[in-house]
Amino acid sequence: MKIAVYPGSFDPVTNGHLDIIERASRLFDVVYVAISSNPEKNHSFSVGKRVNMLKSSVKGFKNVKVETFTGLLVDYAKTKKARSIIRGLRAVSDFEYEFQLALTNRKLAPEIETIFFMTDYKFSYLSSSLVKQIAGLGGDVRGLVPKGIEKELSRKEQ
Ligand code: ADP
Repeated sequence: MKIAVYPGSFDPVTNGHLDIIERASRLFDVVYVAISSNPEKNHSFSVGKRVNMLKSSVKGFKNVKVETFTGLLVDYAKTKKARSIIRGLRAVSDFEYEFQLALTNRKLAPEIETIFFMTDYKFSYLSSSLVKQIAGLGGDVRGLVPKGIEKELSRKEQ
């Protein structure tokens, strides 16, 4: 069984995240989308909300599961028997942070490999914070986030 973990904040999930999930689901038997519930980070949506939004967005993928984790990512990956960590790359600006993260995780757990998926160019500028800004200013987020999330975003800004 090829098992992978795709960790992130998903605050909220965007179509860029979904693009990565779809690519990963084609290569792995099981993909755990793992929402970090690190209390130090200031999130706009609660963990429960982020779980629900992701769950409804990945319904179509039979081998994708949504979970949350606290503590070290590599420890979580080990409990899932995952040998791969998935991350997405958009532009060069992502590289430095992702490089640092991947090497740190390799130092902590050399048996786990980080694998990068290049996003579709359509989503290469897309981020959760951009989506929140657009929604906050009353803009249209159709096509940027999964269907159910559009409502969630506009509801939050009312
Ligand atoms: P984190 O706080 O861990 O960076 P994010 O939810 O912002 O969590 O991102 C999770 C992963 O998804 C990261 O690897 C990020 O580069 C990737 N990602 C975010 N947005 C996109 C996108 N539009 N296209 C491809 N990958 C993306």
